[in-house]
Amino acid sequence: MYNLPALPYTKNALAPFLNEEQMTYHYDKHHKTYVDNLNKILETDKSFAGKSLEEIILSSSGSIFNNAAQIWNHTFYWSCLTPLAKSTAPSAALTEAITRDFGSLVELKAKFIDGGLKTFGSGWIWLCVDSAGKLTLVSTSNAAVPFTNKGPVPLLTADVWEHAYYIDYRNLRAKYLETFWNYINWEFVSKNFETKKIGSPDFGG
Ligand code: MN
Repeated sequence: MYNLPALPYTKNALAPFLNEEQMTYHYDKHHKTYVDNLNKILETDKSFAGKSLEEIILSSSGSIFNNAAQIWNHTFYWSCLTPLAKSTAPSAALTEAITRDFGSLVELKAKFIDGGLKTFGSGWIWLCVDSAGKLTLVSTSNAAVPFTNKGPVPLLTADVWEHAYYIDYRNLRAKYLETFWNYINWEFVSKNFETKKIGSPDFGG
């Protein structure tokens, strides 16, 4: 059984970026549905018994992959966010890498938002670090994660499925991404950069 990981803050903590109604639909309906779906499938398909979410993602396809990856993606996404008052700045080491690979934090922001806007249909925009230590932006479709096929390690993501922002922003993905940038949990992102490891204490597996 996979569990729905608790949110790291209350459902109104990210207002006015994301209001409680948006959070309730996204977390209690969408995120929870992926958990329920995966558990239902794995009741009959026992081949993934005892595997972590990451192990399932790396060795499955079809609906098992889609639901497992979406559980992982959403847990990661919630961890990337923090109430405005608690938003910090990238660590010194991460700032150095951002300056080296993007020129500045302002340029990274512009490219991240542009990547999110160019993600066609439903998907995710990710800041990642590759095996050589270089920062890179990756856009994925639907449930896809960057780290399959020995891909890079995710540091930060924004959900660009319409269900992530439609209640608060209607179709204005650019406005959603602009505001997203102010609510980033840089402590989490910086920690991911330091460890360069996929996963987190409780990703529902
Ligand atoms: Mn979502």
